[in-house]
Amino acid sequence: MKIICIGRNYDEHARELNNPRPSEPVVFMKPETAIVKDGKPFFLPDHLGEVHHEIEIVLRIGRNGRHIQPKFALSYVDRIALGIDFTARNLQEQLKSKGLPWELAKGFDGSAILGDWQEIDPSGLEQGFAFTLQIGDEIRQSGHSSDMLFGFAELIAFVSRYFTLKMGDIIYTGTPAGVGPVQIGDHLVGHLNGRPNLHCKVC
Ligand code: ZN
Repeated sequence: MKIICIGRNYDEHARELNNPRPSEPVVFMKPETAIVKDGKPFFLPDHLGEVHHEIEIVLRIGRNGRHIQPKFALSYVDRIALGIDFTARNLQEQLKSKGLPWELAKGFDGSAILGDWQEIDPSGLEQGFAFTLQIGDEIRQSGHSSDMLFGFAELIAFVSRYFTLKMGDIIYTGTPAGVGPVQIGDHLVGHLNGRPNLHCKVC
């Protein structure tokens, strides 16, 4: 199972980290060992510096495909959930400044939180989704999939030109603005179209 992630897919978020607006999707991967699901806690690593929350819409691939055309791409998705792409930001900045890959800052154990899968069909995906991340009483991030620089279909088509997509692979589709560090004791709740989808305690 592959965990494919998209970076800089919301203009305001790209700007908050002083990154240029990309002309093609920015793609990276996490290993399977990054996944935390079923409401299990996230254990904050103590050797990675600041760890930032990035709330994202996650797509689950329902059938195998490669070189998928954009017009058919949505039919390859069978489920959707919220996820958090936890990012060791200081480490990522160091790696970026040296022109090195991001995996150590993005793919560490526990860095891919997953909410509850919901079944979805292509028409549901076309309507788009509002989503938020709340920590305690405060909404820290809110976004809408219609603000993505590259939409779901474009992402699937692009990624499948490089990697055969297999049933069960998942795609984190990028985070809106408002990222910031988490602390031990934080309780993170993600809402998808107004309904709670993701819970995560930081331990
Ligand atoms: Zn992200």
